[in-house]
Amino acid sequence: MTDTDEGSGSLFPTLADGVSAAPAPSSSEERLKRLRRQSLWLAAAFIVICAFSVLSWWREAREEIFWVWVVGMTVIFIINISLWRALVREDEKKAKRIRDRDQRYRQTLALLPEGVTILGEGWRIEWVNQRALEHFDIAPEVVGRSFFDAVSDERLRRWLLERNFTKRFQMKTRADRDLDVAVVAPDSRHMMIVTHDVTERRRVDDMRRDFIANVSHELRTPLTVISGFLDLENRPGSLPPDVVARHRELMLEQATRMRSLLDDLLLLSSLENRDDQNDADAEVIAMPKLLEDVVREGRALSLERHHIDLHCEDVSLIGQADEIRSAVMNLVSNAVRYTPDGGRITVTWARRGAGAALSVTDTGIGIEAKHIPRLTERFYRVDKGRSRGTGGTGLGLAIVKHVLRRNDGRLLIESTPGKGSTFMMVFPESRVFIDQL
Ligand code: ADP
Repeated sequence: MTDTDEGSGSLFPTLADGVSAAPAPSSSEERLKRLRRQSLWLAAAFIVICAFSVLSWWREAREEIFWVWVVGMTVIFIINISLWRALVREDEKKAKRIRDRDQRYRQTLALLPEGVTILGEGWRIEWVNQRALEHFDIAPEVVGRSFFDAVSDERLRRWLLERNFTKRFQMKTRADRDLDVAVVAPDSRHMMIVTHDVTERRRVDDMRRDFIANVSHELRTPLTVISGFLDLENRPGSLPPDVVARHRELMLEQATRMRSLLDDLLLLSSLENRDDQNDADAEVIAMPKLLEDVVREGRALSLERHHIDLHCEDVSLIGQADEIRSAVMNLVSNAVRYTPDGGRITVTWARRGAGAALSVTDTGIGIEAKHIPRLTERFYRVDKGRSRGTGGTGLGLAIVKHVLRRNDGRLLIESTPGKGSTFMMVFPESRVFIDQL
């Protein structure tokens, strides 16, 4: 936090006055006014008595008048002195109040998540908060210097000089972050530049756009196939029955693909909706039973093309059973789909440190290291053809990630191209239940 300006005339009091439009006079201000009025009256009385006494004394030269004059003057003088002292004290209090208010504004602005740069006359930087220093990549020493000397961005300079602040300005920082810049200018000499890092928001917007484009694309392909075949069948001249049968088979395949995609999308969306809820529906899951069921389904999917083994310790997991089942099933189904015939798949559930881990290891095609960090993104596939050809929706690992997030778990992936992969779901001690009886 950089703070240099101690004096008045900064943007803070100006802003404060601007914000509280037509402020009601406070009681201390009224007292101050009253004090000032009283002391003026006393000063006037002082002068009148003075003039009157001098005149009388001069005309009558009587000693009593002189003493009346002395006593009167002394009383008025004492009252006036005490009034002036009260006035000075009130002034000091007022100055302190302004200083405190100024300090509070600075503290508040310093804590804002936005960058705040306050400029005074001649584009001089009066004050800047830490976030703005980061946004503009400048050092605290720039305070006191011209903004344009400190920040050398020609587009920003032109925008500021144009003074058309109704539209916002967008720029990239040196660290390649997206900044939204807005200006508040209460008068022609002062301005406050507010910078907002919108990198994350842009990323989410891009993701949403990509997601909609991907879903549309994924749904359009099977729909095109289905409508194409229906169109053929509707044309005059009948097709041979074996061709019709083949078309119907393909249409069914595409309809199934659309259904799995919609099922996965609905599951993903319901997991996201449940993200904010507490885990009141968590239960003690008997993992041996759940894994036996999943492995049985995996074997049915594999049609005996793979050896699928299960090693399971008698440890229970605390979580949402249907979600855990769907996550494990996704890993097993991936292992089956990405392992050539004759390969081996091993499902293991065992203690790991104080927690527990479920791993699915295969001897399949493996994954190059550069793809691993992106595998849990929706619709991210290493090989689109293989994924679609084996009925993949591109959403399986995104579902696994969400399930783990809701169940305090994390996903570890290890893979060697051509040798195989291990996908491991790791759970903390708080999620492990061991029946002591
Ligand atoms: P998909 O439906 O395409 O399988 P997933 O989200 O389940 O979607 O997986 C994303 C991608 O990760 C897959 O397209 C595939 O390229 C890769 N992948 C997942 N599991 C494995 C595995 N066991 N072996 C090799 N590649 C895998």
